Amino acid sequence: MRRSVATLAVEEFLTGPGCPFCGLQRETEKRFLGSFFREMVMDGDCRAGLAREGLCTRHLRLIGEAPDKLGAALSLQTLVESAKTRTGRSGCYVCRHIAEALRQYAQIVAELYLEEEGRRKLAEAPAFCLPHTELLLAVEMPRLAGKKTEEFKTFCRERRRRTLASLAEDLARFIRKFDYRMAGEPWNGTEEAVARAVLILTGEEGSETLPR
Ligand SMILES: [Zn+2]
Ligand SMILES: [Zn+2]
Repeated sequence: MRRSVATLAVEEFLTGPGCPFCGLQRETEKRFLGSFFREMVMDGDCRAGLAREGLCTRHLRLIGEAPDKLGAALSLQTLVESAKTRTGRSGCYVCRHIAEALRQYAQIVAELYLEEEGRRKLAEAPAFCLPHTELLLAVEMPRLAGKKTEEFKTFCRERRRRTLASLAEDLARFIRKFDYRMAGEPWNGTEEAVARAVLILTGEEGSETLPR
C-alpha cells in the first residue's frame, strides 16, 4: 500500500498511548485551529464557513482562550454579525472539518486491516474508545469489498467486547479493594480503573462534540 502522510499519522498513533483516534483527533484539532487563525487574519474563505455553520461550545471556548487574540476577535466578530440571521444551532465549523479528517483516518484503518502487517498493528494497538469505535463501525469503506467490510466490523466489535470485559474486571477488582479485608492486597494496576473507564466510555474531551 502507498504510504501517504495520513497513513503514517495513523500508524504513529496506533502505537499509543491511549485511543489512537483520540490522538489523531487531538492532532487534527490542533493543526486545524492553527490554520484557522491564520486564515481568519487573512480574511480567507473560512469566514464565510464560520458565519454559515457557527461553533460548538468547546470550539468557541478554545478560540476565546487562544493566545492569538486578533484571530479570536475576528472569529467572534464574524459570529456576532452572523448570529442575527443564523437560526438555532446549526453545527460547528471546526467539528465538521475534524469529522471529515477522522472519516478519512477510519478508512485508512480499514485498509490497514487488509494487510497482514496492518492487522497485527491493529491487534496490538491500545483500546479504541467507544465514540471512536462507533465511528469505525459507521464510516463507509468504499475501498473494501462487502465481505471484507463485514470482517473488519466484526473485528472492531470483538475488540470492543474485549475492552469492555477487561474494564468490567478492573472495576470489579477496584471496588473489591474497598472491602477492609482486602486492604492489604496489592492494587495490581487497578487504581487507574475509574479514569480508564471514563476515557474508554467518552473518549478524550471533545470526542463527544463531533457530529456523526
Ligand atoms: Zn477515542
Ligand atoms: Zn466544535
